[in-house]
Amino acid sequence: MFKKILIANRGEIALRVQRACREMGIKAVMVYSEADRDAKYVRLADESVCIGPAQSSLSYLNMPAIISAAEVTDAEAIHPGYGFLSENADFAERVEKSGFTFIGPTPESIRLMGDKVSAKQAMIRAGVPCVPGSEGALPDDPAVIKRTAKAVGYPVIIKAAGGGGGRGMRVVHTEAALLHAVQTTKAEAGAAFGNPEVYMEKFLQNPRHIEIQILADTHRNAVYLGERDCSMQRRHQKVIEEAPAPGIPRRLIEKIGERCATACKKIGYRGAGTFEFLYENGEFYFIEMNTRVQVEHPVTEWISGVDIVRTQIAVAAGEKLPFTQRQIQLRGHAIECRINAEDAYKFTPSPGRITTWHAPGGPGVRVDSHAYTNYFVPPHYDSMIGKIIVHGDTREQALARMRTALAETVIEGIKTNIPLHRELMVDASFVAGGTNIHYLEEWLSQRER
Ligand code: ADP
Repeated sequence: MFKKILIANRGEIALRVQRACREMGIKAVMVYSEADRDAKYVRLADESVCIGPAQSSLSYLNMPAIISAAEVTDAEAIHPGYGFLSENADFAERVEKSGFTFIGPTPESIRLMGDKVSAKQAMIRAGVPCVPGSEGALPDDPAVIKRTAKAVGYPVIIKAAGGGGGRGMRVVHTEAALLHAVQTTKAEAGAAFGNPEVYMEKFLQNPRHIEIQILADTHRNAVYLGERDCSMQRRHQKVIEEAPAPGIPRRLIEKIGERCATACKKIGYRGAGTFEFLYENGEFYFIEMNTRVQVEHPVTEWISGVDIVRTQIAVAAGEKLPFTQRQIQLRGHAIECRINAEDAYKFTPSPGRITTWHAPGGPGVRVDSHAYTNYFVPPHYDSMIGKIIVHGDTREQALARMRTALAETVIEGIKTNIPLHRELMVDASFVAGGTNIHYLEEWLSQRER
């Protein structure tokens, strides 16, 4: 096992990885930007190295600075967390070339899955169902583009091969708008992602976002840890996640989960990963794979009893998965609310000093956050300051626990989205379960100010 790991991230996930290291008897090196210098998780680390100014491009995205920090501290491996460099194949490659272990999949896997066209082709080959659409990237020939759209059926969605974060997509309802939409998306994709390739998919009208968590080792073992429902989204950003997904038959989940695990073995995937699907009318359609740990991993940890971060570290060190698929037993129901430093009604960011931080507790409540009373939320990064996760024997109990946890939470000095979560936890449709990916935005637009 590693003796020392460098954590190339910040905030709650940096603290989450630090906790896993502590538990495993591994020393943790934190890197931090000048804006995070005083954070407690940095102060509490075994060692810490400043890697640059607040601006991410000069610190958390600064590959040479991070690799030098690993060199000077004698770390053996680098955990990238999520966001920042976690899905950057060039970074993974530079880490390994410099003699460190990248805690994640190989650069080849990241590259294969990072390009949505190659990812989709790999999934089709592995027998994972995908959204019907063009075979690979769209060619230039207008006649072929029109024929493809007609065969797929309108509305269609034009998506950039290199897209991410909800950008580089355009929905087309009629043939009249098709060619212009393809041209514009190509131009934007070229400028934003350095790759003008686009592809076409059928635009699903009212899907749910269901994803499958997988874990794989370097000994050809791969398992899935059930699913998560992440349909409660605003601007393609997840707000609430839960597991299991309400109302989806177990045999369907098992079938798709097996396919994902098999696909991992086929592509030689290692570490943690997530297959994201749209789910509509009882069918799953693969949209993309995330080759890293996700924000919402705790809901899966709670129903499966598996520590995903610990397992990531263990398999990166070459260990076998400590369980087989048959040993994975899912129990109860878990819900996560993302706590953002933002206005709950206008969604404008609200960085600044937290004057009171009172976190909830009690049975079935977990809080993953690096914040505390007197913590200063820097304005330079994502607005998420933590997560409240609850578990119950049933979904009803989990909902009741979340309502209690949210009622106990006191955060003063900055604005947060806690009031939004409190409202959603008593909303009739959310409480009933199974809302689709448009539900939250529609709810927000109708809500009385
Ligand atoms: P990104 O990498 O930018 O997150 P995704 O491919 O995961 O892109 O898609 C992001 C979101 O866009 C999905 O969660 C869904 O809301 C919407 N979307 C993508 N493809 C389709 C589709 N074929 N039909 C309907 N909605 C889609």
